[in-house]
Order: sequence, then C-alpha cells, then structure tokens
Amino acid sequence: MRRTILNYLVVGLLMAFFSCNAFTAFAISIPMGILPRPLHCDVSSTEYIPLDRVVLLGANAEAQFWAARHLKSWYGKFAPKVELVAKDVSNMGDEEYELLIDDKGVNISARTLQGVRYALYSLRQIVIARTGTMEVDGWIAPKAIVKDSPKISFRGVHICWFRETEPWEVERLIRLAAYYKMNYAVIESWGTFRSSVAPWYGWKEGTMTKKEIKRLKAIADDLGITLIPQINVFGHATQARGAAGKHATLDVNPKYQPLFEPLMGWNWCLSNPETRKLLQALIKERYEAFGCPPYFHIGCDEAHLPSCPECASKPYSQLFLEHIKAMNETISSLGARTMMWHDMLIERGDSRWNGFVVNGTKETAAGFLQLPKDIIICDWYYGGVKPSYPTYDYFKEQGFSVLACPWNNADGIKAQSKYAYKVGAMGVLGTLWHHYFGHSLAKIYYALSNSMWNPEADVNINIDHYNLQRVHHHLRQIGWDMKLKNPRHAGTYYDEIPPEPFLNN
Ligand SMILES: [Zn+2]
Repeated sequence: MRRTILNYLVVGLLMAFFSCNAFTAFAISIPMGILPRPLHCDVSSTEYIPLDRVVLLGANAEAQFWAARHLKSWYGKFAPKVELVAKDVSNMGDEEYELLIDDKGVNISARTLQGVRYALYSLRQIVIARTGTMEVDGWIAPKAIVKDSPKISFRGVHICWFRETEPWEVERLIRLAAYYKMNYAVIESWGTFRSSVAPWYGWKEGTMTKKEIKRLKAIADDLGITLIPQINVFGHATQARGAAGKHATLDVNPKYQPLFEPLMGWNWCLSNPETRKLLQALIKERYEAFGCPPYFHIGCDEAHLPSCPECASKPYSQLFLEHIKAMNETISSLGARTMMWHDMLIERGDSRWNGFVVNGTKETAAGFLQLPKDIIICDWYYGGVKPSYPTYDYFKEQGFSVLACPWNNADGIKAQSKYAYKVGAMGVLGTLWHHYFGHSLAKIYYALSNSMWNPEADVNINIDHYNLQRVHHHLRQIGWDMKLKNPRHAGTYYDEIPPEPFLNN
C-alpha cells in the first residue's frame, strides 16, 4: 500500500512538473491513454474543455454525417455540433488523422471517412462526463494533440463462432476490433452457419443465420471493419474442435460419409467429385451471405493423410493441388482473393522449419509450389519471441502475400508483427480461438491492436493494470452501444466467479 501511494505521488509530481496550468499544478491522477497507442500523442493535460463543438477539417459531407450520428449516439442530448471546414489534406493517408483539442474546441483533420472514424474512436476514449453532478449533464475532453496513422495496412482478427457462441459475443468482438482500429475480421463457422444449399452441413440449431450475418455486416461496415467468411475445405471438415470429438455433419447425418475421409471424417475426401461441387456451392453461398467481401478464407490447416482407398491410390500432391486450385478459381471468379493457413504447405522433417508449425507432407509441400500466387498465406505461430520467422521469408520468396498470425502470447504477437512489418508482409491476422473472454480477451486485443498499429512502438505489450481497466471501460462503452441489459453480457466473464480453469487468468 505504501508503495502504491508513493507511486501516485511520483506520477502526480511528474505531471505537475510537465503541466503549464497553475490550477492543476499539484493534481494527482492516472494519465489518460488511447488504445492502440497513437504514433504521436500528448493526452497528459489535466485541463479539460467542454465538448460542444467538433470541427472536421478537409473531410466530406459523408464523414460529417457519420460523425454527427455517432456522437449523438454516444453523447445523447449533450452531443457536440459537427462542422465542416475546408483544408488541403491531400497529403494525408487513407487511415491517417490528427486530433487537436484546445480552447477553441475539438479539431479533426482527415482525408477519409476512416480517418475521421479513427479520430473519433481516439476522442471517445478520452472524453468523460462533466463532473460534480448526480447525472450526466455534459461532456468534457482534455486538451490534447494526436497525430496518428497505422504502420501496417491489413490488421485483422480471426473470430470463431462455436455452437455455444452467442451472436452478441461475435458482435462485441467485432465492435471492439473496430474500436481498436483493426480493419478486417475473419468469421469462422464451427458448424453454426445455417446453409440453404446444404442444411445438413452443421448443427441445425446454429445461430449464424444469413439474417444475423447481414445484421453484423451492416454494423461492421458502419464501424469501418470488413468481415471475411471462412470454410475449411481440407482438414477440420468436422467443424468441431479435434479435442471435442464431435462432427457437425456426421454425428446427426451419417449418410453423408462418402464426402469425408473414413478416419474421423476429419478431412474432406478430395477424390470425390461431389465434395468439390458441394464446397464450391457452399463458398458461393457464404460469399454472398457476407455481402461479396474482398477475401475468402479456406482454412486448410492440420489436415490428415487420406484414409479412403481412392485418395490413397492417387498422387496426393496432385489431388491436393487440383482441389485447392478449384477452390481458388471459384473464389477468384466471384471477385475475391483466397486466404489459407500455411502449415500443410511445408514439409515435416525439413530442418529449415524446426521450432515452427509444420504439418505438411512431401506431397502437400510439392503441391504448394504450383499453387496460384494470388493466394494469401496465413502463417500461424503461437509461441514467443524468435530472432526470425523463416517461414514468412519462404512464402514471400515463393511470390505469395503473407499474413503473420499469432495467438495469445503477447511477446510473440509483438515480435511477429514487428518481423512482418520489417520484411514487408501484407499484414497481421491475430487469432482468438476459444480464448474470447476473460483476461485472455483483454490481453490479446491489447497486444494485437498495439502491435499491428505500430509494431516498432516502445510499448510494454503485456497488459498492465491500468490498460486492463481501459479495456474493461471500452467494453462497457460497447455495451452501451449494444444496449446490453443482461449482467452475463457485461464484463469479460459471464459470471462473477469464472470457471475454475480461468480463476487465475
Ligand atoms: Zn478420399
């Protein structure tokens, strides 16, 4: 306790030293912060101004409309007026913004709607209710200056929609990703998509309906994040975690066994022409359900060797190659680019990949060398810091675009993002898997958003107490946007006492 008080005193004295405002000279408070940390930013002032006017410099009427609508939704009857002022911002980037808060009000410079969105997301994180009253009767913002733009252009998160995942959870993950300035979210159905092409493909009570996707897409588009669908076209055909032992199709519809390899039904049967026809129809359906996005993820990780006599009798590299090429042609003809996981594309036992994720065979690695170069390789590694990530270099050397895909190791997230940025990879696609709640959620989003925005920033990437509180506050703001009433939907755990394995997280 003594140490805590001492820390507050030191912070207060430091802030007093740097403050030019006599009134706040000896104030003690926790400094403001913006997530992800902007490139250049000073939000340390304890001098606040009323939030009654936001001036957009260089933006257009669409951005003004967006800003007014969202400010009204965030601040109600005390929302500030939004004005447009002409300014030459032609040299600003697509996602760049400047935010200046001074005696004259809030001034935002941005060339695009996305720049205005990001400025307002930063602003929202530092605006507080006017103090000293029982109920909100206005809003105030600290004097601040922020000059900001991302270093990495593709900043994505991969979200799993499990049988027990509820739509509000997916919505919240999408909203938080957008709030932290990520611009893509891959949504993988784990047997939850309700297909009309093949209604038996997945659990019949799945909550990922076309209507629900349409609703989420509208929210995502409005918030500046693009949703990308995923269907696993090779392994993971069970649409269930391997450890769970379920099969979202065969457990209740055994007549479809020929579509899958006999052992567990884990792989699709690549020699069965019905498999290809079905997957092409499912891809088209999912692509349209997601509103024709620019990318489509086909999974392809952790596949097994074939176990049916037909697949086993053919050169598997050819079967694999023809299958992936057919999937890619379907996706290209729809107007999108294919994304796939990397691990089947390099060979187990090849010493170049020691310490990294390798599940391929000689056959799949050979098939990879003939794949079309417009496929984006999603290279996943869930460990910590390595001096280099040679698989990124390999896929790039082979002429492919590469996304670095870390999971929940904060130091690894930072190191992989940094390496991806250094070697000119396409970007970063973080993953959550089943860790989309509790401390893991805060930890991953904090590390991911900061690493993707500026991988070279001198930020402690392991979330500390104050930043954890910030993430919780941001989730509360999102809860207000979603008009949440159910206490189980608040915070990061459903219940006050989390399940035992998460008690210490
Ligand atoms: Zn087969």
